[in-house]
Amino acid sequence: MKNRLREKALELGFADIGFAEAKPLDLYIQEVDSRPPEMYSFTINDTFSLRRGADIPTKNPWAKSLVVLVRNYHKYQFPREMTGRIGRCYQVDERKEKKEEYRQLISYFHFLKSEGIFFFLDQEIPARMAAATAGVANYGKNCFAYANRVMRGASWLEIIPLIMDRELEPDEHTISYNCPSWCRNACMAACPTKAIYAPGKINPHRCIAYNSYYGNGITDTELREPMGTWVYGCDRCQQVCPRNAAYENQPLPVNVPLEARAADFRLERLLNMTDEYYTEKIWPLCFYISRKNKAKWQMNAARAMGNTTDRDYIPELITALKNNPDETVRGMCAWALGRLGGEKSKAALEARRANDNDLVCREIEAALNSL
Ligand code: SF4
Ligand code: SF4
Repeated sequence: MKNRLREKALELGFADIGFAEAKPLDLYIQEVDSRPPEMYSFTINDTFSLRRGADIPTKNPWAKSLVVLVRNYHKYQFPREMTGRIGRCYQVDERKEKKEEYRQLISYFHFLKSEGIFFFLDQEIPARMAAATAGVANYGKNCFAYANRVMRGASWLEIIPLIMDRELEPDEHTISYNCPSWCRNACMAACPTKAIYAPGKINPHRCIAYNSYYGNGITDTELREPMGTWVYGCDRCQQVCPRNAAYENQPLPVNVPLEARAADFRLERLLNMTDEYYTEKIWPLCFYISRKNKAKWQMNAARAMGNTTDRDYIPELITALKNNPDETVRGMCAWALGRLGGEKSKAALEARRANDNDLVCREIEAALNSL
């Protein structure tokens, strides 16, 4: 049975598959229980809880095995226009658009059903710990999972944990940090927000990825500059990692459909996009920000513009400062104009200083002071 599951997974294009007993993921549970509750409240609450998912037998008493599929999400090059702005894994997330990768998983589900296997794709199972438990990945000190047997050991992998009602011989776990000592923790040094506060420990509330799609209100002043030009997600601690160099430095085919839509994610298009543009071009690919929260994208685009030092963005920022209905977007435009500087920025900020609400006026005064 195990061989059949493996052969079918590889035949359908998955990179790897591993097997474990359906036991509690104890190390994960110990780790989150040792952290302040507020650090993980976004993934451990009544409606969604990785802590609950980690206790596999309590949540799913019928489960006998944990089976982990690995998908390589870096089979193609990523568009240069999106590099450093949109995290790679999100650029090829096909769950909403139901394209080839999605259909591959559905085909695997059909196969499992045809074999009479009862299974469940439990989104609450902590994916990286599941992968290490099933022997398909090990950890980097940046907390990402690195492939053991495939993808030249890289971290560009999507992990799909399934629980099944069949006893399957478990593989040996690979829960370990396999980082070379000569690396000297390059990921920690490169993390712009210092989110990796110790090897293998990230404070999500300081992570750019978290801040780009979660959280309400205008981004804290302290984080705006370190968040740089990332609009949605962040790959920095993976890009600098020498464990990814072999994979990254090889020639990969162009992703033609993705290249064709890369221009949709230009900062100027994001900043002043309509509701239709957002729901038709952006949200179907990058859906962690709700369909109703276009303003979060626009605020992120304004912040990214401010961090480019490119004054060509000033006219777009002035337009949004005047016209955007959301105060967090207008406030961030003021901040960005202060960062980019120049006479046009100053004139636009002065023209708005008495014509907006408290939040935006505070941002305008701070921006003018910074000029
Ligand atoms: S950058 Fe260095 S320490 Fe960080 S995950 Fe990569 S090899 Fe490990
Ligand atoms: S994803 Fe970015 S912000 Fe988050 S830990 Fe890695 S480098 Fe830091």
